Amino acid sequence: MTRRADRRPRPENESHFDTRSKGVIFSAGGALPLLLIAVLEPTFLRPGTLPILVGIVVFTLVTVAFTVRVGTLTDRQFTVLGSGGMFGVAVCAFLIADPSGARAVTAMLAVVPALAASGSPRRVTLSLTGTAVVFAAALSIIGAEGVVRYVAAGAAVTTVIVPALLIAAMRTSLESVTDRLEMLANTDPLTGLLNRRGMLPRVEALLAEACAARTAIAVSLVDVDHFKSVNDTRGHAAGDGVLTAVAEAIANEVPSDAVVARLGGEEFLVLGLARSVTGLEERILDAVRTSCNVTVSIGVAQADVRPGTFDVDVETTLDRLTYAADRALYTAKTAGRDRVAFALEDPVDWTGGAAARRDRVEPLRRHAS
Ligand code: GH3
Ligand code: MG
Ligand code: MG
Repeated sequence: MTRRADRRPRPENESHFDTRSKGVIFSAGGALPLLLIAVLEPTFLRPGTLPILVGIVVFTLVTVAFTVRVGTLTDRQFTVLGSGGMFGVAVCAFLIADPSGARAVTAMLAVVPALAASGSPRRVTLSLTGTAVVFAAALSIIGAEGVVRYVAAGAAVTTVIVPALLIAAMRTSLESVTDRLEMLANTDPLTGLLNRRGMLPRVEALLAEACAARTAIAVSLVDVDHFKSVNDTRGHAAGDGVLTAVAEAIANEVPSDAVVARLGGEEFLVLGLARSVTGLEERILDAVRTSCNVTVSIGVAQADVRPGTFDVDVETTLDRLTYAADRALYTAKTAGRDRVAFALEDPVDWTGGAAARRDRVEPLRRHAS
């Protein structure tokens, strides 16, 4: 299963670096002062170990340069660099002659798990945290004596685990809030149907499917008849109840491979592959009539989709289809309401150009009213 962190594309205006990569660059820089101190004060390190520290600093510089270049590390790159970085921290801690200096550097092992928790899949965070825990415990046990070593190990492991846990928990709750906000932004609160914004991804998928299957798509605009008088005679709350009932009646009829949305007011939109919504309009008319105490009028437009011609963006396509369906809806209204009318022409020039090729614009269905 794909993790949430992987699912969400980064917004285009976001910087070249994600938070995790910024953290890698910032924290890797910490190795440089150690080298400076070791050169100025040779007793800082265990005797003869300066070349090892130089090797670690070189790895650190490579890490920084690589991260600056790619901007956003993949999970695999982060795992490799993070594991290497933690190994470097552990070796540094071991090389430092003074135990208190060694303990201070050991605490740095908490950095990579915390960065992982901020933006990695759970398995990456778990494996890096596990590695940090092993290093922290081992260094504490090596660096202390007697019962103190267990205290040191417990403290070091806690230092690693707690920030990672807190960040992971905060991220989970932030994601659930974001999911909820996204759901609310895509849903009509009265009827629970998708709104126009919410339907766009599904419309896009349906258009692509229609292209692949060389089949027509159909859009129906469903508008409650004389709805204003429902509000005027029965009250706004009863009007809301009617809208909910109409939405339910429509949704019950619409096949699962088609999409239904409330466009606003007392107007609903159904879009699907023409073959899967054949006869749907009449079923909606019947269902509303029998269960909602009102009637609806429906305008339908169809577009014939040819492979290789789908280079019009989804919003433009939907606008053209809706415009054509709206004109058909007007025909249904003026012809007496409680009926279906079909648009005469394919409303979509799939080439996106001004000159719609005549042979592509075929009327697929005629007026039914
Ligand atoms: P027609 O048959 O020509 O469609 O007439 P109509 O009365 O249905 O259309 P009109 O556009 O004149 O009126 C629509 C009414 O829908 C006006 C508006 O107050 C009402 N309306 C829009 N949104 C809501 C809503 O969320 N709840 C309620 N109760 N009424 C709403
Ligand atoms: Mg109406
Ligand atoms: Mg209306």
